[in-house]
Order: sequence, then structure tokens, then C-alpha cells
Amino acid sequence: MTSSPPASRTVGRAVRAAVRAVPAYPFTPLNVPIKLDQNENPYDFPEELKAEALRRMAARPWNRYPDLHADTLRDAVARYEDWDPAGVVVTPGSNVLIKLLTELAGIGQTVLTVNPTFSVYTLEAELLGARLVQVSLNPDFSLPVAELRAALEREEPGVLYLTQPHAPTGHVDAEADVRALTEAAEAAGWVVVLDEAYHQYSRSDYRGLVRGGPARLSLRTFSKAWGLAGVRVGYLLASPELAANLQKLVSAFNVNLLAQAALEVALEQPTYVQARVAEGVRERGRVLAALANHPTCRALPSQANFFLLRTPDADAAYRHLLSRGIVVRRQDRLHLLAGCLRVAIGTPEENDALIAAVDDLR
Ligand code: PMP
Repeated sequence: MTSSPPASRTVGRAVRAAVRAVPAYPFTPLNVPIKLDQNENPYDFPEELKAEALRRMAARPWNRYPDLHADTLRDAVARYEDWDPAGVVVTPGSNVLIKLLTELAGIGQTVLTVNPTFSVYTLEAELLGARLVQVSLNPDFSLPVAELRAALEREEPGVLYLTQPHAPTGHVDAEADVRALTEAAEAAGWVVVLDEAYHQYSRSDYRGLVRGGPARLSLRTFSKAWGLAGVRVGYLLASPELAANLQKLVSAFNVNLLAQAALEVALEQPTYVQARVAEGVRERGRVLAALANHPTCRALPSQANFFLLRTPDADAAYRHLLSRGIVVRRQDRLHLLAGCLRVAIGTPEENDALIAAVDDLR
């Protein structure tokens, strides 16, 4: 017989109310052959580079702690990005940096972003009890510049998240708008995050804008164009002052020596990335063109390695694709995204299967 434990044995008030109020991360992994639900690179890290990374991993002492702040890796990232190493911070995935940025400038302050937006910005704001302010994107998914400017002036400063290309829409904004918002935010005392997780696919690059001020940063990841989501490494490029403050929040030894070895190899031989991005961009054009005349679904333009498919019935469309062995991500409950599924660009064969399956969706 089971009975509920006495109140004194439940987590009760020991767990902060903000944490208890947040539901667990809503993701159910499915064992489906064509995985287009996580915006991953459809190709694994090249075999010969993997072999070299494994060789280096084996050669290092696993009983010893790795570099305190992954200094060798930071230097390699700095060389690759033409950045001052003192302005680079590396963590296990850029999701970790989003949490730390919320700790840096959000706790007791404000997190400002648009709606819809990448869920981790709002999740971390909620978990860490920051004041979360979201401004609706325009119906064409462009940035609501005037409304954001008003919020920057009205709210107590904190952290502003701008995503280029935007997730989950794949939209790229006019550089003048991003620049104006960045400058206005910095002048009003905000930290400005330009999340460039997918920038290789849009050929956009905000390093120049980030160099222009001390409270701006570019957030980047090895999980997408580099095909290293499983290794878990992300980084940011910032001013040395901002990076030094953020580094205080990074726990010691946070990038393990196995990930460090893999990334050192990738950064020594990065040319495979270009070819993959070129194929991804080509395939994106092919898929969007193939779906352009669909009678009921609309594939929305995108500059990322994914796109939104607006369907008349997202639940039916999702289940139809699943019956064809294709898993995508539902986004239809999000603001402005009624009927939308988010679909990653896969290999040409996977994309052919997607096109055929959507074609049969009437
Ligand atoms: N930013 C955006 C906009 C993303 O879509 C993602 C991944 N889904 C991330 C950051 C985090 O990527 P990671 O933690 O794998 O570096």
C-alpha cells in the first residue's frame, strides 16, 4: 500500500517557487529514421577527424582535470574568429551561456526578447526569476523595432536577446535595425546578445557590430554548421571586460578534455564546414522551391538550416509525416505560428522523402 509522504518529506518550499512552476523541458525523443526535429547537421563529424580526435583523447591523462577555463580551446576559437582571446568564453553548449547570461544580467533585472523566440531565453528567465518582457514580432516576422526601443527605455535594464537568423522563423532582419537596437540598448545600460547559432546559413556575421561596444556579444555554437551537437561546445565573443565578468559565473573545468580534443581538431581543419553549409543552403532552396505550389501547405522563407511549414492542421500533418518515418517539431501553439511545423534541412535523400510526404498531404 502506498500513501503520500508527510509534508515535511516533500520538497515543499525548499525548492524555489519559480523552479517548481516551470514544467520539465518538453521534448520526447522518438526512434524515427528521418530526424528533422532538432535543427542538427544531417552529417556526422568527418571520419578522419573523428579518428584524430579519438587519438588525442586517448593520449591525454583522464585522471587529471582539464584546462581550468579551456584556455587552449579559447585560444583556438579566438584565432579562428579573429578575436581577442580575453573576449572568448567557452562552455558545454551555448545553452549554458544563455543560463549564465541570465545570471549575469537577468536575475533581479530584466530579460527582454521577442515573441516567438528561442525557448531557452524565456525558460532561463523564468527559472532564475528574472523579469521577462516579450514583444510580439511583426506579422512578417521582422523585428518590432519601435516597440523594442520603447521597452528598452521603459524597463529597468538587463539582457536583450536578438537572434540572427531568428529562431524559430529563420527570418533575417535588416542590419540597420539590428544595429539601431543594439546601440539603443547599450546606451540604455543593457547587455545585448546577438545569438548567431545559424549565421553560417544566412552568411551574416555581427562580429563587426559587437566590436563596436563593450556590452555586446555574439553567441555561437559548434552544434549546427560544424555538426558537433553531441560534443556540446558553444562560445561567445565579447569585450574582455564583459567576458571576464561572465567567466566568473562559469564553473571550473566545465569543458571536459574529450570535448576540448575534438574541438581542437575541428578548428585545425575547418574546411569541411563550408562544403556542408553550401549543401545545406542549396538543399534549403530546393526544398522550398519544391513545396512552393502546394495546394494547402506553405513553406515559409528561411535563412537558416530549417524552415516553418504552415499547414491547415498541424497535428494531422505531424502525424502524417511521422507515418512516413519523418519527425519534425510542432510550433503551432506559439504566438503567430498557428499551423506551423519546424522542419530541419536534411541530406538530399531525406529532403526527397520530406518533399514526397508533404506532397501527399492534402
Ligand atoms: N541558440 C539558438 C537560437 C538555438 O536554436 C540553439 C539550439 N537549438 C542554441 C542557441 C543552443 O545550442 P547549443 O546549446 O547546442 O550550443
